[in-house]
Amino acid sequence: MSSVPEPPGNQTVSVEKIGGGAEFDERKFEGVERARRNVEKAVLLDAYLEREKYPTYFGFLDEFQICESSMPEALRERFRTIIDEWTRDSGFVRKALWSLGFEAKQEIGNNSEAAIAKTFYEGVLRGQGRLELDGYASPIGSIQVVGKGPFFTVYFFDKQDYAELYRADSGGSFHRSELTKLVYQDRNLIPPMLFVNGPPSSPNAILIVRHERQHFINHQWMKKEVRADGDTGLAAANDAVKDEIIAYLRDGHEPLEIKSVLNNDAYLPLFTGMTDEAGRSLKRSIEEVCLAANDATLYFPTMASRTLLVFHLIDTPLEQMADRVRTLIAFEKTNGNPAAKFEIPGRETEFLIPPDEDAV
Ligand SMILES: [Zn+2]
Repeated sequence: MSSVPEPPGNQTVSVEKIGGGAEFDERKFEGVERARRNVEKAVLLDAYLEREKYPTYFGFLDEFQICESSMPEALRERFRTIIDEWTRDSGFVRKALWSLGFEAKQEIGNNSEAAIAKTFYEGVLRGQGRLELDGYASPIGSIQVVGKGPFFTVYFFDKQDYAELYRADSGGSFHRSELTKLVYQDRNLIPPMLFVNGPPSSPNAILIVRHERQHFINHQWMKKEVRADGDTGLAAANDAVKDEIIAYLRDGHEPLEIKSVLNNDAYLPLFTGMTDEAGRSLKRSIEEVCLAANDATLYFPTMASRTLLVFHLIDTPLEQMADRVRTLIAFEKTNGNPAAKFEIPGRETEFLIPPDEDAV
C-alpha cells in the first residue's frame, strides 16, 4: 500500500547549504527527530478527533497504542487541553443541533433534515437582521446541517442559497459565532459554523472542509506571535498569513499556487495600515515560505506526510518558517525520507504527487 516515490538526490545532500557546519546540522537534526516524534502524535490526534464522536485522552492513547511516558509532560498537557476543549465544544454543537431540531418540530411539526435546514436558514437571516423574528423564509435547494465535531458544517446544495447567506464567489467560509449569529429559540447556543458552497460529495466540499477545519485547529492550537488584543502590526499580519499558508498546505494546495492566492486582491486587507517596510517583509516571507514548501513537496508526497509538514510548522513563527522547511528537507534527504513512509493507521494512503511506477 505504501508505494512512495523515491526522492531524487538522496545521496547528494549538502548539509552546509542550510547553514552551519556538519556538527551544527547534526544538532539541528536531533531537534527535528525529537520534534517528529511529537508531530507524528499530533497528526494521529488530529485523525482521532476527526473520526471519534466522544474523544478522550486515554481513548486516544489506547487507539494508537501510545505509551504515555513516551510523551514529554508539556505535550501531554497540551493534548489534554486540546481534547478537553474539543469535547466541550463538540458537546455544545450537539446541544445546538438538538435545539434546532426541537424548534423545527415546534414550528414545522417534524425535525427532518429539511425542517432543520429551514429553521437554520431562517435563524441566520434573523441573525443578520434580514428577517423579522416571526418571519418565514425557505431555501431554494437542500441544505444539510451536520453537527459532528466542534462546529456546524453546513452544505448548501444550491449556490443561490449560499450566496443569499454569504457571498456568491467563495467556495466556503468559516463563521465565528460572535460574528455570524444564528437567532433561534435558544440564543445561548450559537456554534461556530462552516458554510460549504456545494453538496458534501462535491470535490470543492472536501477541500473546503479540510481548509477550514485546519483554520479551526490553528485557532486553538497554533502558537501566536501576538494575542488577539487589537495589534494590527506586522506580528498580527504574520500570524494571519501563517494561518492561511498552513490551511492551504493542509487542504493539499500546491505551494506555488498558495503564493499566487495570497497575492490576490482578497488578501489585500492584510497589508492595509502597514508601513512599506512591514509590507515588504510580509511579502518576502510569503515568497520564501512558498518556495521552500514547493521544494519540500517531493519529500512529503502523501496527505499524511503533508499533515506532518503542517504540524511541524504550527509553532514556528512566519519569518522562521522557510528556514524550518529547508531543515526538514535536509533531514528527509539524509535520513531516507521517513515522512514519505508515514501512515495514519486505519486510513488509506492518499497521494498528493502520484507515485512513480518506475521507482525502485
Ligand atoms: Zn483560509
